[in-house]
Amino acid sequence: MYSAGDVRIENVPDPQIIESTDAVIRVTRACICGSDLWPYQKMEHSETGRVMGHEAIGVVEDVGADVRTVKRDDFVIMPFAFSDGTCVFCHDGLQTSCIHGGFFGTTEIAGAQAEAVRIPLADGTLYPLGAHADDALMPSLLTLSDVMGTGHHAAIIARVTPGKSVAVVGDGAVGLCGVIAAKRLGAEQIIILGRHADRIALAKDFGATNVVSERGDAAVERVRELTHGYGVHSVLECVGLEQAMNTAISIARPGGAVGRVGVPQEQTIPGSEPAFYNNVTVGGGPAPVRAYIEDLLPDVLEGNIDPGRVFDRTVGLDGVPDGYRAMNDREAIKVMVKP
Ligand SMILES: [Zn+2]
Repeated sequence: MYSAGDVRIENVPDPQIIESTDAVIRVTRACICGSDLWPYQKMEHSETGRVMGHEAIGVVEDVGADVRTVKRDDFVIMPFAFSDGTCVFCHDGLQTSCIHGGFFGTTEIAGAQAEAVRIPLADGTLYPLGAHADDALMPSLLTLSDVMGTGHHAAIIARVTPGKSVAVVGDGAVGLCGVIAAKRLGAEQIIILGRHADRIALAKDFGATNVVSERGDAAVERVRELTHGYGVHSVLECVGLEQAMNTAISIARPGGAVGRVGVPQEQTIPGSEPAFYNNVTVGGGPAPVRAYIEDLLPDVLEGNIDPGRVFDRTVGLDGVPDGYRAMNDREAIKVMVKP
């Protein structure tokens, strides 16, 4: 990506092992993230461009001399953040705050909308799946690199437990995975706030019990009507814009919690006063998806959850620029890339 709206497919030097703890993987599936749409809308021109993409599954091509947990030909999940797996925050299960970590698809570390990626700290970062899995499972395994783990994080931070009422703000891939996560954690009522027919249909398939397509005050009113006037126990904020956060805080019941995973586009958190007077806990951030693979993988392998259904379009590398356009125009929910 060179600037807002300017995505090109170009030949670049092959990624190489630089540190002895690196690996290189050949990407078998990658995808375009809702968060990639922020730079797609706003990025300033860059002379060198930025190799985008932070979600992938693939096959290990090469490992540095000190890599122990993965080897050539292993099939692996690449979480969107790299991490050493050994520091205090990795031990706490918060790999996205790893002292030596960072994020793929940034100006420092090239991303995964590519044929191959260099993986720093391969031992802590890559999750080996052993044998090559069934082709039909690939889309769902790919979601464990970000969106499914991120939806799950929103649900955990929002304290979803059996019998709770939940609202999901945002009907993008993360919001839809948030619905899956809420259902999986035993929520009784799951209200999706969204307005795109295809996404709402999928949300219902995933377990949403109510749909609210209004916005602003009307949305708050509608959620109250659906919850005896109280609001919901748990809100999953999966957008990142001011209005979404305001809505999220306004529909939480007193003592409730908001789990925010939409990348914030403002410096301040709106809704401070209602959050204070209603004792609403607001938390969240980049999901430690590396930690969540352990929890979520068995349900993917057993077919209990099928988050791969969020992909409604598949492109080759040449189709990536149009994939961005399609997601930005809300023509596609989430675009999978098969290099
Ligand atoms: Zn660490």
